[in-house]
Amino acid sequence: MRLRNVTGSREMIAESRFVVQEPAAQRGKWNAVFGNDHPIHIEIGMGKGRFMMELAASNPDINYIGIEKYSTVLLRAVQKMEAQELSNLRLIRMDAEEICEVFDKGEVSRIYLNFSDPWPKDRHAKRRLPSRQFLGRYHEILAADGRIEFKTDNADLFDFALEEIAPAGWKTEAVTRDLHHDENMFVGNIMTEYEEKFSSIGNPIYKYIIYRE
Ligand code: SAM
Repeated sequence: MRLRNVTGSREMIAESRFVVQEPAAQRGKWNAVFGNDHPIHIEIGMGKGRFMMELAASNPDINYIGIEKYSTVLLRAVQKMEAQELSNLRLIRMDAEEICEVFDKGEVSRIYLNFSDPWPKDRHAKRRLPSRQFLGRYHEILAADGRIEFKTDNADLFDFALEEIAPAGWKTEAVTRDLHHDENMFVGNIMTEYEEKFSSIGNPIYKYIIYRE
């Protein structure tokens, strides 16, 4: 998701109190940022932030961090936060490739990947957020009993993601190829912007939850 260039978006983000400006400086100290010891859940590739904001509003005992690469996109989330401030949500503008520089070993309890960019060319496979390269990074920062939840409407990306699980040393806890008609996995589902758009035109939504033994 890339939005039209918004003049001054970098400056607006640099001044926002909702955005952590030097995230690597908080490595191992994220609980201090929130002033409590609640578990930390992150979304990588947050987009405009609807999913993170709904989760944060519903779960005050969990700290959320939304990560987004592009300032023009992140700005939309910042603007929404101005209207609905949530003390348990912070935002970071960064490329997820640097995630291990920002979170310490086991510092994160849950990682959400929603409608990640598909990078369809084979030579770009390692850029896909559910790739084994990224699973290796998630392994570093995730607590021992942590989970990754991944949703997409892209069948090729989902098939790829399923194939990456075992070689990367992960196990499947739950999987569906039609989330919105799965009576167990749909319970408590929070729609993302992309999920709303693609499910409204009839695309099935795929989801997995994975963990390490
Ligand atoms: N998660 C949102 C949703 O479901 O509505 C947005 C989905 S959008 C297709 C994917 C988002 O991931 C884009 O906003 C993109 O900029 C972001 N993104 C892609 N690769 C990223 C990376 N390596 N690090 C951080 N964000 C990334």
